[in-house]
Amino acid sequence: MVMTTSASVPTGPHAATTGGTVTDRLVEANERYAEAFTDPGMDARPVLHVAVVACMDARLDLHAALGLQLGDCHTIRNAGGVVTDDVIRSLTISQRKLGTRSVVLIHHTGCGLESLTEDFRNELEEEVGQRPAWAVESFRDVDQDVRQSMQRVRTSPFLLHTDDVRGFVFDVKTGLLREVDPASPAS
Ligand SMILES: [Zn+2]
Repeated sequence: MVMTTSASVPTGPHAATTGGTVTDRLVEANERYAEAFTDPGMDARPVLHVAVVACMDARLDLHAALGLQLGDCHTIRNAGGVVTDDVIRSLTISQRKLGTRSVVLIHHTGCGLESLTEDFRNELEEEVGQRPAWAVESFRDVDQDVRQSMQRVRTSPFLLHTDDVRGFVFDVKTGLLREVDPASPAS
């Protein structure tokens, strides 16, 4: 692709959207985004000193749902919003190198992990002949899973700040967050 200045980019919302893959569509959208983009001059440290760990679910628009702006936070997402070793890795870098102090955990209603079990690993092993090293991290009780995630963050030896760790369930039907009491047993 030829680099052009914004003044000479062929404009129009459907300039090159015929055919192509979904990735082509995203790249075209990016060209329009970059045309209107101005460097906000920020450094990499999140303005609100917060890291949000959330499920990758497509119905959860974290920035809109939490009133977040560009530069405000770190967002760390995976299937389930589970606190895995790799999430701890990201949180450790977030806190120790980029100054975040608060952690917000967000699971949600209707999560795909509720319909999976650890048998998924067995199925994979049968199909491909190799057992994945990772746990599926499926769950039955979303509140309990949020509690477990909070516990994993709070007890991590690598994190500097574990006093402000809060967990929530996002309702995909209402858009509302419901906070999970870390002390309550599963109900
Ligand atoms: Zn989910």
